Amino acid sequence: MSQDYYELLGVSRTASADEIKKAFRKLAMQHHPDRNPDDKEAEKKFKDVNHAYDILKDPEKRAAYDRYGAAAFEGGMGPGGPGGFNGQGFDFGSVFGDIFDEMFGAGRGRPGGRADMRGQDLRFNLEITLEQAYSGTEATVRVPSSVACETCNGSGAEPGSKPQQCPTCHGRGRLRAQQGFFTVERTCHTCHGAGQIIDKPCRTCAGQGRVRREKTLKVNIPAGVEDGTRIRLSGEGEAGTRGGPPGDLYVFLSVRRNPLFEREGADVHCRVPISMVQATLGGHIEVPTLDGKMARINVPAGAQSGHQFRLRGKGMPIVRSTQHGDMYIEIMVETPTNLTAKQKELLKEFEKAGKTSPESEGFFSKVKEMFGG
Ligand SMILES: [Zn+2]
Ligand SMILES: [Zn+2]
Repeated sequence: MSQDYYELLGVSRTASADEIKKAFRKLAMQHHPDRNPDDKEAEKKFKDVNHAYDILKDPEKRAAYDRYGAAAFEGGMGPGGPGGFNGQGFDFGSVFGDIFDEMFGAGRGRPGGRADMRGQDLRFNLEITLEQAYSGTEATVRVPSSVACETCNGSGAEPGSKPQQCPTCHGRGRLRAQQGFFTVERTCHTCHGAGQIIDKPCRTCAGQGRVRREKTLKVNIPAGVEDGTRIRLSGEGEAGTRGGPPGDLYVFLSVRRNPLFEREGADVHCRVPISMVQATLGGHIEVPTLDGKMARINVPAGAQSGHQFRLRGKGMPIVRSTQHGDMYIEIMVETPTNLTAKQKELLKEFEKAGKTSPESEGFFSKVKEMFGG
């Protein structure tokens, strides 16, 4: 779906949660499949509107969408799990759960249909240095998470016993009822949407099928990553309940500011102060580069502040290529301060010895002309 989510719902980017909800309800009613039987277009619109709402109703997902666009949800972070819009087919149950449970007062926050058995996606913020971004690194992240219970293999039932099909909903997890001209679906009250009931819950996980644990993961950070890069680790999110599939883990990278180097895309800028004498007479300076080495720069005599030198290929690597950006060294000529009496004397003598600053002399003679001096 390429259309902008805000546009789809017909709200502004600054719309409040309430405005978004109102717009969504109106559109969901309008394009509801029960009101538009056999209308493919309405069905598609209904799905799109639901998808957009799924993102925008969640403040974190909305923030991610505002920042990264739909790309933030590529490949499964979207609505409510594998039964969602990226999976095989479309599960009306999970969508109805959201609007209709709420509209008809059947309670909120309960797991929706069986699709919601998928574990949650997790987000992990990782800060790296510019040097790490330059060379690429393998980071170790510790994520508080839940994993499938080993005692019951994630089923939630005590070993030796098995979950039974729920007799109320016959395993569907949801119940249908006619209400006005809608067919309303609700979460089954017996099994809370699981479709199964457990006679003997596993004692390790209390029938949840998962236990809390801190996971340690290695994350491969490719050379050249930029601030704001998102790395998806498929299946490393929260474990699903009772054997459902796990969610994904998203690592959001930020690159710490470096005191010496400023990055601009693949190029890197560095300002190097040099003394007035060095700039006047010329000479070599040594500057650090991101590969940990030093580069030698030949400063010509009479170099001015702001003069730039380009070190080709000494910038950041470009991800998934063998190319590098460039490094720019800008020199900054320092005016001497804290002079001794002797130094002042020498400078006055130097000034008397002859004209050495053609640009400022040119400037002041123009000023004289202007004011008729
Ligand atoms: Zn267990
Ligand atoms: Zn049931």
